Amino acid sequence: MSDIIVDIAVGVSVHKTFHYRAPEALSNMLAPGTRVLVPFGSRRITGTVLGVPTTAVVDGLKHIITILDNPVSSPLLELARWMADYYLHPLGLTIESLQPGALARIRPKRKTYVRLARGVSRQEVRGRKQAELLALLSRDQEVERGTLEGFSSATVKTLQEKGLIELSERECADPPPSMRVEPETPPHLMPAQADAIAHISQAVSSGAFHAFLLHGVTGSGKTEVYLRCIERLRSTGLGAIVLVPEIALTPQLLGRFRRRFGTQVAVLHSGLTDRARVDEYRRIASGRVAVAIGARSAVFAPIPRLGIVIVDEEHENSYKQEEGLRYHAGDVAVMRAKLQSAVVVLGSATPSLESYYNAQSGKYTLLEMPDRIDHRPMPEVTLLDLKTIASGATFSSALVERIDERLRKNEQVLLLLNRRGFSSVLICRDCGVALRCPSCSVSLTYHTTSEKALKCHYCDHSTAAPDTCPSCGGIHLRLLGSGTQKIEEEVQERFPHARIARMDSDSVKGRQAYDRLFEQVDRREVDILLGTQMVAKGHDFPAVTLVGVIDADVGLNLPDLRAAERTFQLITQAAGRSGRGELAGEVIIQTMNPSHYSLRYSTSHDYQGFYQEEIAFRNELGYPPAGRMARIEVQSSREQVASDAAASAANRIKQLIRGSNARLLGPAPSPIAKVRGRYRFQLLLTSSRRDLLHRLAEEGKKAAEEKHGRTCKVIVDVDPVSLM
Ligand code: ADP
Ligand code: ZN
Repeated sequence: MSDIIVDIAVGVSVHKTFHYRAPEALSNMLAPGTRVLVPFGSRRITGTVLGVPTTAVVDGLKHIITILDNPVSSPLLELARWMADYYLHPLGLTIESLQPGALARIRPKRKTYVRLARGVSRQEVRGRKQAELLALLSRDQEVERGTLEGFSSATVKTLQEKGLIELSERECADPPPSMRVEPETPPHLMPAQADAIAHISQAVSSGAFHAFLLHGVTGSGKTEVYLRCIERLRSTGLGAIVLVPEIALTPQLLGRFRRRFGTQVAVLHSGLTDRARVDEYRRIASGRVAVAIGARSAVFAPIPRLGIVIVDEEHENSYKQEEGLRYHAGDVAVMRAKLQSAVVVLGSATPSLESYYNAQSGKYTLLEMPDRIDHRPMPEVTLLDLKTIASGATFSSALVERIDERLRKNEQVLLLLNRRGFSSVLICRDCGVALRCPSCSVSLTYHTTSEKALKCHYCDHSTAAPDTCPSCGGIHLRLLGSGTQKIEEEVQERFPHARIARMDSDSVKGRQAYDRLFEQVDRREVDILLGTQMVAKGHDFPAVTLVGVIDADVGLNLPDLRAAERTFQLITQAAGRSGRGELAGEVIIQTMNPSHYSLRYSTSHDYQGFYQEEIAFRNELGYPPAGRMARIEVQSSREQVASDAAASAANRIKQLIRGSNARLLGPAPSPIAKVRGRYRFQLLLTSSRRDLLHRLAEEGKKAAEEKHGRTCKVIVDVDPVSLM
């Protein structure tokens, strides 16, 4: 029999596809999206069938080795094509990132199920056990073999031989046992919630693509809106995807979904074992799940009939993947909804400028929920000017007094300091040099946990704190600034009776530690919770009535076009943790820049005001969302190589750019000019035209690679989020 030829995207870093042979008899099993194992050089790798090429060179083609399970559905294949194109990433690798890496390796669990044979009379039954088993099966219809306690395999076998019962083996997609929880009665909706739900549900039932931006202040009940919209979907057999930032996947949030949807919730997060992830993936693909909830990559959850995709806290930077396929899960969610004629809802109290811009232009429909549940007041926010308090002090007396007051009333306090470690830097007072990481161009942070160590927050380099300055030999080393560790000590000293917990990536390692701490706060076993931005996000602790921001300036002066936006979001979100319950809340913000617009607007909970001022600045410079941006980063262990390659990229781009509206910034060393011993140079491209931007980025990359391909790495980041 003759062979057919198929076009295959293989999972390697090349920007083209390859032709393979397959026996003609298999042609109906090789639809686009089929996963296959193929020989590639001396290796065997996975690939995905794209179709049958119109023309092909037949000589020397290799054969497909095997066909794998778990094909990629056609909308997901379509989505991968779009991503590969948009993010300039090899198609084969893009498709690989749609599925868990372990999917092909881990076989599905199979179980045996027992049920009554149809249309057979029971006259032949002998013995009590046999009768009992038949009675049980007539009641429960089908029972898993392993749960049949008290029946011997002989009993089962006899009945089977008599043709009275049937055994069947199949893949089981049982939910993990921890998922069973008590159901709850949903609350009465607030008018704004009901309104939002009506709009969204109507769009869902129309069966056409529609995008919404749900702008609801902190505590306005956005989660309830998501729950109801999904509830309404269920009768139609459609499924939902809910994306949340990894950090928001708390027992609290999952509990709310499980109480509503029971075992029909599948969860995908980074703490799962390969086995658990693959099991959940298969359960989702089987169509037996109403909602898949997870972090960034859950946007690829294989819900067969998709009705809605929800992106909660859509402004979060963690939706952007910062390596490999540099996609933004929010943007991918919009595209996925479009490809499956579904509805997408982006929700936030502090929408990204991009999303609000799209709502203004009519690309998204804006839904507003301007009030908190039960018209609870927004917390009162006070800015305290750090310039007026004794220099070096971490706490103003006003903040100390307020904390004291709350503790006396048995309420909870949340303190935010967006800097971990003990102090920021160790500085030599003789020569003024700060101690820096040898492989990254950042200063080291002083930690005291086990030993007095200086740690790099980029590469995990750690060294004992020296007694003398490595540059001048001086002995007057001094700690400057303070991190969460030091604040914890200070808070404990000031409030010796308070139960204090610290939440940052040093103190809370791993999912379980994080969940445990959360439950402690929930059960009111903690009086003061202090930490980095981890404490500011999305949680609902009704007894928190005071939020203190110890130093609002930490992120304000970063060389990043989104520094003001991020500060506004962080402060507004942190403030949003206060006064969510019956008791009114307040917020105290310590800053050196009380007149900065991002702080002023967050004080008055004025998103619109902030947006207007910020968008004017973006418009003026053609920065996103007013223009589109791409970043080229060149890395090399040799500084000269990185700098030369970046210059080649720049030269090529400058030639192509003439007469167009595109702009090139750089090349320049990245703000963090060296990480893990690799020097980094970057170029920023802006333009109002996406096709032009893509071409420039591709050409720039080529130019850099042509010159130094072997000794440097060139990364293209479309719609970059991190510019550091
Ligand atoms: P957001 O995500 O907008 O900050 P949440 O969805 O966490 O707000 O809701 C805040 C609190 O209000 C939660 O404790 C939630 O259970 C409660 N809640 C939501 N909707 C209602 C409602 N209609 N009536 C009473 N309580 C509600
Ligand atoms: Zn380092």
